[in-house]
Amino acid sequence: KVTRTDIPSAQYGGRHAVTMLPGGGIGPELMTYVREIFSYCGAPIDFEVIEIDPSTEGNDDLDYAITSIKRNGVALKGNIETKSQELSEVSRNVAIRNELDLYVNVVHCKSYPGIPARHQDIDVVLIRQNTDGEYAMLEHESVPGIVESMKVVTVENAERVARYAFEYARQNNRKKVTTIHKANIMKLSDGLFLECAKRVHKDYPELEHDNMIIDNTCMQAVSKPHQFDVMNMTNLYGTIVSNVLCGLMGGAGLISGRNYGDHYAVFEPGTRNTGTAIAGKNIANPVAMINASIDMLNHLGHKEHANVIYEATYQTIVNDAIRTPDLGGNHSSTDVVENILKILSAKRVNW
Ligand code: ADP
Ligand code: MG
Repeated sequence: KVTRTDIPSAQYGGRHAVTMLPGGGIGPELMTYVREIFSYCGAPIDFEVIEIDPSTEGNDDLDYAITSIKRNGVALKGNIETKSQELSEVSRNVAIRNELDLYVNVVHCKSYPGIPARHQDIDVVLIRQNTDGEYAMLEHESVPGIVESMKVVTVENAERVARYAFEYARQNNRKKVTTIHKANIMKLSDGLFLECAKRVHKDYPELEHDNMIIDNTCMQAVSKPHQFDVMNMTNLYGTIVSNVLCGLMGGAGLISGRNYGDHYAVFEPGTRNTGTAIAGKNIANPVAMINASIDMLNHLGHKEHANVIYEATYQTIVNDAIRTPDLGGNHSSTDVVENILKILSAKRVNW
């Protein structure tokens, strides 16, 4: 079994139930836009909305959310704030990924033509180990003044994320996978990650596999991003490189991210920001969350709905240049959404 997440079968009338976790900051307003667009084009999705209040004691909301995702198989997610710095308080975002064993995160960084950005024509797929590495959350103060944090690399997870990367490359006609590491310093942990990737590569002889050290990767990414094709990396390097690449091509508001395990799939904006400072101002870019909802529709096999929403969104920001301030525009979030709805209504006759 390779890289295949169980796809839930549709319920009555071909409809799917999907867990919606709005999260904090701009999450709830972005979800409102997604729901408007879905109901406008009749997307056959019934959302089960679960609010997770980061200020409450205990984990009842979180448990409920995880149970719901296990039942539905699929979720659309905003970022959940972790308010406290208490050691006992685990990030709920991390808890969801670990509990559902969402071992891989996929962020496809593909430029939109004409959007003001440092580089044009970027097309890089970032494949990130999503559950261990530096996010193992095994930190302790061994003696006062000395804190240790464990970075965990396992053969099982390093191999399956590498296999995902090579399989993705094969299925999507990509040529090269680059494994990102710091094995010159972290010889055991990153050394193992790299070794596993080299071993898995043997099953994909038609693909090129090279490797690059994380610090050089950041320099190469900002100066010559077009050299990359598919990247395979540990958890922390993955979040750094995805933020670098998203920043180069137009910021946090554009690109979506997909989280997969063998059984569940969670879709969200690629850079996982809460956006607290811009919440409620009608300036957040709705596109990353709309793209996440399109990924979700595709995952569930609702290709036609996915395509019409994709095309309407693309036309809005590329051709019609209706863009929020993060993309250099002066339009509001609702201007973007209304333009998408206008395009959808013009297409309606064809459905
Ligand atoms: P975090 O959740 O990691 O604290 P922030 O909320 O601070 O991240 O987001 C990082 C930056 O990205 C901020 O400048 C924020 O305004 C911007 N940002 C995130 N999401 C969006 C969006 N959808 N539209 C516009 N800007 C965004
Ligand atoms: Mg912040």
